[in-house]
Amino acid sequence: MTLTGLCERRSLLDHPCFYRSAGTRWGRVHLPVAPNCTIQCNFCNRLYDCVNESRPGVTSRILDPAEALLYLDRLLKARSDISVVGIAGPGDSLCDPERTLETMRAVHAAYPDLLLCLSTNGLNLAEHVDDLVAAGVTHITVTVNAVDPLIGQRIYAWVSINSMIYRGLEAAQLLLSRQEEAMSRLKGRGLTVKINSVVVPGINAGHITAIAEKAAEWGVDLMNCIPMIPVQDTPFECLGAPADAEMVRIRALASLHLPQMYHCRRCRADAVGLLCSEKS
Ligand code: SF4
Ligand code: SF4
Repeated sequence: MTLTGLCERRSLLDHPCFYRSAGTRWGRVHLPVAPNCTIQCNFCNRLYDCVNESRPGVTSRILDPAEALLYLDRLLKARSDISVVGIAGPGDSLCDPERTLETMRAVHAAYPDLLLCLSTNGLNLAEHVDDLVAAGVTHITVTVNAVDPLIGQRIYAWVSINSMIYRGLEAAQLLLSRQEEAMSRLKGRGLTVKINSVVVPGINAGHITAIAEKAAEWGVDLMNCIPMIPVQDTPFECLGAPADAEMVRIRALASLHLPQMYHCRRCRADAVGLLCSEKS
């Protein structure tokens, strides 16, 4: 608090995902306001919703923006260790951009001291960068699973733009070109940017270094290599998860190009608390 009684905004360095040093003091809360997605990844199935399941894309319920603010009000009365409010699905946070922007604006107006963070696949990001900055967003994560459309076409079943469905190579090319445009705008506005790359054995596991190299060219600040969790009833169900030793090797190679995040908890879309807490 300042002498005038106004809250100062948390330092950008107080984001526990982007800065490991903040992880023991500061926690995050995800507001699950984004149920739908603009693309279909071959490892993702958001139909399963189990309170015992902890992985991205899972939530106990969807909140509308007003409910999300009420939930946050109650949460912040109960705990003082939250530094960042994020929207990370369970779908894509910019599939229904007005829901997300309305939520961010309301949170920023009520709690200007908190950092705001967003995760997205990047398809609809470029056109909303200015709106997100105006809403107070400081940290963005874009999931980039391929920077070669020939590999991307094996990961994405389809991409939807303006109610048109694209498949195959065209879908992967469209997604990549929009991600590239978004990166340029994000860095132009001075946002802190992380990429998440889901490591899929036999599909993109040998391609992660190339992603890191390209992301470094884009000016990305941090990379989070996430081992795929094989999920029931998805095309990649039988591929299995990458071995721990393989992840160590992949991260070591990627770190030659970009700083790596090693403490990701693969959180649910309604995660809350310190990254080391049991509930996350
Ligand atoms: Fe699932 Fe996220 Fe891929 Fe959408 S972008 S299909 S929510 S993993
Ligand atoms: Fe942070 Fe990883 Fe959890 Fe996202 S999934 S909030 S990057 S720890």
